[in-house]
Amino acid sequence: MRYIDKLPDPKGEAAVLGTFVHRILEDLLSLDASDRSVDAARALARTLWDETRDDDDFLGLGLSLEDTTSFMWKAWRLVERYFSLEDPTAVDVVRAEQELSVEISGVPFFGIVDLTERVPSGLRVVDYKTGKSPAARYVDDKLSQVWLYAAALAETHHEVSEVRLMYLTSGPIDRPIDAEAVGEAVDQYRLTWDLLCQSIDAEHFPHKTGPLCNWCPYVDLCPEGAAEAERRYGPRS
Ligand code: SF4
Repeated sequence: MRYIDKLPDPKGEAAVLGTFVHRILEDLLSLDASDRSVDAARALARTLWDETRDDDDFLGLGLSLEDTTSFMWKAWRLVERYFSLEDPTAVDVVRAEQELSVEISGVPFFGIVDLTERVPSGLRVVDYKTGKSPAARYVDDKLSQVWLYAAALAETHHEVSEVRLMYLTSGPIDRPIDAEAVGEAVDQYRLTWDLLCQSIDAEHFPHKTGPLCNWCPYVDLCPEGAAEAERRYGPRS
């Protein structure tokens, strides 16, 4: 629906909030290390807020004045939380918000890496997360993203030694580089690509229902998803 039919995909509050916080952290980490203070972050937040509040995605949320204030506080609390998790003046930034467009195992890959930083072991790739951290059984799924970043960076001759999912709500999930995990993530990525190509050739796109159907922007166009949402959460209004 999003990529083939190109139907509108209005962003939810969590996504808009995440983008706003990511921009603050990106600009903060782009400053000289000694300038990365809370006051600097506050000044950046003010500047970026002027852009965010006029952005179509934010306007599309239709927030009331009260909800807008709540949105701003939620964003700022995440930034404050960041400072409690990490001293940004000690981060040895290699690149922030790096766009990667490569082929991994012959499959096109595009991603935006939040941060690569020098660490004692070599190079760490970091993805900042503004949502809540996953239950233990889902951590491996979540890590597949940074394993793929490691594979993509290897294509650009940057060997990653560690990966980090930095959950601003709860703290980092760190792993040393694991060739087997990278290989599994790449295999899964290639399998997904193959299935996608088969779907495009056959013009058949099977639904994959799950707990998030209730929040899917296309649920009203998707009988299977609507039924799943009702089964899980009761009648939809
Ligand atoms: S409602 Fe569920 S199954 Fe349907 S498109 Fe959305 S996520 Fe997929």
